[in-house]
Amino acid sequence: MLTNYHSHSHYCDGKGSPEEQVQGAIAQGLRAFGFSSHCPVPFENQWSMKAERLANYLVETRALKAKYEGQIELYTGLEVDFVPFTADYKSANHDVGITNPDEQTLGPKDFPMLDYCVGSVHYVGLNQFGQPWEIDGSSVEFLECLDTLYGGDIRAVLQKYYGIIRQMVEMDPPQIMGHLDKIKMHNAARPLFDESESWYVDEIEQTLHTMVKAGIIVEINTRGNYKRGLDLYPSSWVIKRMKELQIPICINSDSHRPEEITASFPLAYQAAKAAGYTEVRVLLGGQWQDVAL
Ligand SMILES: [Zn+2]
Ligand SMILES: [Zn+2]
Repeated sequence: MLTNYHSHSHYCDGKGSPEEQVQGAIAQGLRAFGFSSHCPVPFENQWSMKAERLANYLVETRALKAKYEGQIELYTGLEVDFVPFTADYKSANHDVGITNPDEQTLGPKDFPMLDYCVGSVHYVGLNQFGQPWEIDGSSVEFLECLDTLYGGDIRAVLQKYYGIIRQMVEMDPPQIMGHLDKIKMHNAARPLFDESESWYVDEIEQTLHTMVKAGIIVEINTRGNYKRGLDLYPSSWVIKRMKELQIPICINSDSHRPEEITASFPLAYQAAKAAGYTEVRVLLGGQWQDVAL
């Protein structure tokens, strides 16, 4: 049974309308599909939905549910950033310290329209220009800030990154943890660290324990693989440890166009099986439940 709850459309940085995503999902044989555009953030960036489009997004995706009933189950979600602002930073139009997946961010009117959230960390503190430091974009910019601000100390950055993830999960857990170790992608531009180093294994271990405590799903995200030929997020050894800790998984492509909806899924299913998983958690009939892999 194929499902994907992490997807983007033209409401944020994806290509094609939500309906085109639905048609792609049906063509690729999905039983259920979730929309998860990047939730607006209270500062400028290149890829989040603009705040003024949120209401339309909610209404349009809702309407598609009804239109395609009987063909595919559709769910309205958001990929929400967790950005714990430092005390010295306040954006022009927002002075709340934290952007996270809850009613405060979305407003009491919009929140009940959401079926779920994917919680992701795309920012680690501020960069050398005093702006939120995006760790999910170009490696050139990432490395510039790493060298300028941290003297190349990747360990300090990774400890901050995983610390922010833990803070998100402890403070306000989303239903799905998004691309847990995506920051490792910069290793492809310059070898920065080895995942077997004990301090890194410790960070992962601590972080997984917060997931266990919160009872959330950790997705296996295939985007790095089909976009850049990289490993899955998270790495296979992390998936094995997740299985030992009985953390539920779902398999998502983080698609940004209709044809990517099941991209690299075979690899993710293989990795899940190799780790010992026999079930995935899916949202069906409005309930999160485990079904056979
Ligand atoms: Zn993301
Ligand atoms: Zn995404």
